[in-house]
Amino acid sequence: MERVLENIRARSDLNAFITVCDEYALSRAELVKKEMGAGRMGGPLAGVSFAVKDNICTAGIRTTCASRMLRDFVPPYSAEAVRRLEAAGAIMVGKTNMDEFAMGSASETGCFGAVHNPHDTRRSAGGSSGGSAAAVAAGLVPFALGSDTGGSVRQPAAYCGIYGLKPTYGAVSRYGLIAYASGFDQIGILAASPQMIGDVLRAIAGRDEKDSTSKELPEGALSGIDLTGDKPLAGLRVGVLKDVKGLGPEISQALVSCADRLAVLGAELDTYELPGPEALGAYYIIACAQASSNLARYDGVKYGLRVRRDDLDEMYNMTRSEGFGEEVRRRILLGTFVLGRDCYESVYLKAVRTQQRIKRQYEELFGRFDMLLGPVTDKCAPMLGEASNRPLEAYESDIYTVTANLTGLPALCVPWSKDAQGLPVGVMLTAPRFGEERLIAVAEALKG
Ligand code: GLN
Repeated sequence: MERVLENIRARSDLNAFITVCDEYALSRAELVKKEMGAGRMGGPLAGVSFAVKDNICTAGIRTTCASRMLRDFVPPYSAEAVRRLEAAGAIMVGKTNMDEFAMGSASETGCFGAVHNPHDTRRSAGGSSGGSAAAVAAGLVPFALGSDTGGSVRQPAAYCGIYGLKPTYGAVSRYGLIAYASGFDQIGILAASPQMIGDVLRAIAGRDEKDSTSKELPEGALSGIDLTGDKPLAGLRVGVLKDVKGLGPEISQALVSCADRLAVLGAELDTYELPGPEALGAYYIIACAQASSNLARYDGVKYGLRVRRDDLDEMYNMTRSEGFGEEVRRRILLGTFVLGRDCYESVYLKAVRTQQRIKRQYEELFGRFDMLLGPVTDKCAPMLGEASNRPLEAYESDIYTVTANLTGLPALCVPWSKDAQGLPVGVMLTAPRFGEERLIAVAEALKG
């Protein structure tokens, strides 16, 4: 464990961690060792260290959401996913850096500064779970938890060259995940191998009484699938996204070569088309609406920052203006606006209808296919600063990931190739609800 902590310190240049909990990790490691020695703990995660995105609550360890609002917030309880991992013997070593309240695509809107990509430290590690992705990609921890509301696990995984799973909505308890847009938020997993993704998923998935949206998984959904033999994917019908405009050549090439590989493994391929740009609009309208309501709780009274003023309204105003950064304020404003009387029907309800339509489109697609192959992003990791300078472009870059959140479907980023500069390129596999094990098995088969 000392070595793990040393390695983390040695890579402080990445700014991947907000808090490293040395003492906690050392004492947990001691305890787990004892339990393992006594035969009371075992299994694939016993003694494995992991990191947790800083919007996931950890009892007694501060959880900031990379926001001035929660800079000193120490939760009295742990998220259910963390609790289950600890029960399986995994050892939490720290809390990872992110975009403020998970709003962003580059891990640079948080109050602790930007995360740097281990493949090129001048570049973004992606967002908003950039700290978790950088920590895994740099080999500091074998896996990390992130959260994915519109792509925040898969996109940083793609930029950092690792696996990133967004589970089916409801497959993993959201208890203790600080809400951004509760209808989309899911805790996800970042790891360097599909096998590790599977081990972690099996530990954290399933119904939790404390989250009414969590689901009992269908029988056998977590028992693992072994795809071996000459043509392990024989009979698997895979839809490959039709070539789209605006996709970087290195991404298109990765899709072609991944599709070729799937065919060699026996899969039957055909093409499908993306639902269209309105998916992105629907995502941002609904996500901001939910965020504006979720973030109303930070008023200087119950949690976090309070800017003291004699007048109550002034206290609310000052607390919220000083506590939230620019991107979060922009989204609260947008969300409040679309929920207002003038926009509710014409904008908000229209977005909800669009979401319903996209859900139906995907149901139809999964009548024809067992799995979909598409890009995660349209290009490789951008230079730091690019996303914050052009917020609208940053929103647009989420076009390939948000559909899984709008539909609630599981999706996995698979690191596939490198561009000419050696930057990682990922591809995305999407499955029907609770098809996680199949995603993991196909990713394993693709590894060869
Ligand atoms: N980039 C998207 C957003 O800013 C996704 C964020 C996320 O998944 N947390 O909303």
